[in-house]
Order: sequence, then C-alpha cells, then structure tokens
Amino acid sequence: MTSFIVTGIEHGLTGMRGPEARFQGALRVEEGVITEIGDLTPAPAERIIDARGCVVTPGFVNTHHHLFQSLMKSIPATINGGLDDWVMEGPYRFWPTLDEEAMRLSVTVGLAELALSGTTTVSDLHYIFPDEYDYDPAEVLVETAARFGMRFVLGRGGLTHGRPWHQTDLPPAPAETLDAMLAGVEAAATRWHDPSGSAMVKVAATPVTTVFNLREGEVREVAQAARALGIRMHTHLSENDTYVNSTVERFGMRPVHWMAEQEWVGPDVWFAHLVKCDDDELGLLADVGTAMAHCPQSNLRLGSGIAPAPAFSAMGGIVSLGVDGTSANEAGDMAQALYSAFTVHRGIGGPAATTAETVMHWATAGGARALGFDNVGTLEPGRAADLVLIELAHPRYFGHHDPTIAPIISGGEFHVRHSFVGGRPVVVDGGVPWLDVEKLGADAARTVEKMKAAAYVA
Ligand SMILES: [Zn+2]
Repeated sequence: MTSFIVTGIEHGLTGMRGPEARFQGALRVEEGVITEIGDLTPAPAERIIDARGCVVTPGFVNTHHHLFQSLMKSIPATINGGLDDWVMEGPYRFWPTLDEEAMRLSVTVGLAELALSGTTTVSDLHYIFPDEYDYDPAEVLVETAARFGMRFVLGRGGLTHGRPWHQTDLPPAPAETLDAMLAGVEAAATRWHDPSGSAMVKVAATPVTTVFNLREGEVREVAQAARALGIRMHTHLSENDTYVNSTVERFGMRPVHWMAEQEWVGPDVWFAHLVKCDDDELGLLADVGTAMAHCPQSNLRLGSGIAPAPAFSAMGGIVSLGVDGTSANEAGDMAQALYSAFTVHRGIGGPAATTAETVMHWATAGGARALGFDNVGTLEPGRAADLVLIELAHPRYFGHHDPTIAPIISGGEFHVRHSFVGGRPVVVDGGVPWLDVEKLGADAARTVEKMKAAAYVA
C-alpha cells in the first residue's frame, strides 16, 4: 500500500523556492519513498491516485504546539488578555483537570485539526508532568500520534519553578526537580527517539520557558544533557516585551545572547516565537543554524507582536511555522498558520515581504530542517512520500488565474482529499478513516463541562 503513482498533477508545489518551487505531471512512490517526478506513465497494475482538481504539496510540518490545550479554547477570562493572563487562566488553572481520558481526547482533537489541514509532522512541547497525574502524558502523546500515523516530535519539557503570578488563586505550578525532568527526558529519549531523517518519533528536551522557569545553572545543564543524548532542544524565547525586559533586568543582556551563554544555540536548537529580536540576535541565530518556529496566529491573538520572519529568512535563517497551543489562538490548523504568515508581514513590510512559495517553504522544508527530518519536507526523488492533495472544488478557489497558490492566498480551511506519511494514508477522501468526528465533538463538549466544574478554586 505504500507504492503508487499520483497522476494528473496540474498544480504541484515542491516546498522548494525559486524555479524548483512548482511541478506538474506525475509523482511515483515506491515503498514509501518518492522515486520519480515528471511525465510518467502508470505501470501495469500500479495503484493510481488521481490529483486532478487538487493542489499537491508536501505534508505540512508544525514545529510548535501544546496539544494538551486543545480543550481550553475560548476560556472567557483569557479572551481579552495578553500572554500572562492567558497562561494563568488557561493552562495553569486547568492542568489539574486533565485526567488520562481528557488528555487523550485533547490530543486527539488537536491532531485531528492538524491532520485535516494537511499536517504530517507535529512537534509538541509538553511541560506538565506533575506527581498528581496517575498516567504518563508523554505516552498518551506518542500513542495518539501513532494512531494518526503522523510523524511526531515529543518535546519532553517541564519547569523547575513557576512564575510569581498576580493572580493568587491558582493551583501550584506543576514543577519538577531538575533531576526528575532530566530523568524524564532521558527515559523518553531511550524509549522513543529515532535519530534517522525519516523517523516516526523523535524526542527533544524542551523546558517550557528557560528565562522564567529554570534557574540559571539549570539551563546549561539541560543543554549538556540533551547533547549527551543526541537530541535537539526547544523552548519559548522572546515571545513579547516582558521576556526581553526581564532577561535584560536579570542578566544584563538580551535573550538570544543570554541563551548563547547558556550553550543554547546551534543547529540542534529551535526557538518558538522570537518576536522581539534585534538584528544582532537574528544574525547570531542565522549564523549558527538555530531555527525559528514562527507562530503568527498566536502572536496576533495574544497581541504579542509580529516576529521578524522575513528578515531572519533573508539572513539565511531557518524559518518554520507553528500553530502554538490552541488555548492561545482558538484553532490549531496549518491552513490558518500559512495564511497568517502570508498576510501579516505584508501589512507591515509591504507586498514584497512574503510570497506564497516562501510561506509554503517555511511550512514544509523549513519545518523539516528545524526538527531534523532530513528526508522530509520537499517533494523530490529520494524523499519520504509525505504529501497532501488539497481540493480546489470550493467556491473560494473559483476565479483564480493561478490556482496552484489558491489555498495559501485565499485563506480559510484546507479541504484535504488525501494525505500520506511515508506513502501510508492519514487522510482518505477528506476524513481520517478511523475517526468519528461527531463523537469526538460530543466527547469534547462533555469533557469541557467536566473540566469547568472541576476547575481549581483556592
Ligand atoms: Zn507555545
């Protein structure tokens, strides 16, 4: 089932930039790997996937998420607040209400949104590993991603101390000792990490926010432990002015320079957000190959600012796209992330700030590079067959002179006909075959009511 030919491709995007950005014809997959692209004839008995009426793209790579937040959308106390209010009234108030069933449901909702918008690789920064849970959230995450058949990066995160919040009736922060966190990272890496370029599961060390949630020496210790295990590192950095001001106040330097001092830069690191970076910081990151997980949707929703992704990209920096946790933006689909990235930079930088092909590159090849999937992210011979067919038979795409880029520049939901990971189907005929969406919606609504009733009140 992992060998087939995709025929009738009129509108193909490779994930590459420049003259190689587009292709037409057919694409042959053998044993899960793309072997030929171009003017091909199906062999006798070769299985045919018809791409007429679709745009064919690489599977999208989401480099920053918090799947446990998928049942925390539109919490009233967060809607008109910024990052701090949202963190307090969203994840930090509701984490004790996530039993194993709620966690599994939340991860399923999040992955369903992603799969149905053409995502084939997901990186999740999970940082809630409290003693109070009688289950392992990491196991739930890895198992659920495997059920969808998506490539998954388990960001085994955590915190050694919470921040002092102005809200005083919150449950205690789900902190661990550094030793417990590092033991958790090592156990996850030993159990699941596959270093190969087309792995189904990788593990990364991902403290939630090094600047706020680790002590100074601990930041360097995490880096050393991750490198000893041969895994990547990821955290939130410079998401808004508060990050920058507090780092400058405490350490006398800007966040990227401080992280460089803690051994937290290099080609094995990617940072979420990087909204508030000066050119010097961007240049440093571009030079050493540290990638940006650009999350425009959540940055806009929380009023954090607009990350300098085009400037970083122009310096040779690796830009990828992330949706960020859905309690920060009420949706977690890559269609929205692509459209936000396409439009928002034009609003401040003019129409030359982004192109559809550049945004596609960030969402695919850029993401694969950020996460270390060397065989993923572009449609070219030798790469894993992670690909998506997006339907054009919807009124919002009618009237286009260049339908190939219609799904990116018209915005709205992607209607994915089929998607594949390593040639194995994830979305088939517009749905995830084993997933009952109606039941998922009913279960989510019921569980949200349970979580509201159980919400912590001091
Ligand atoms: Zn985040």
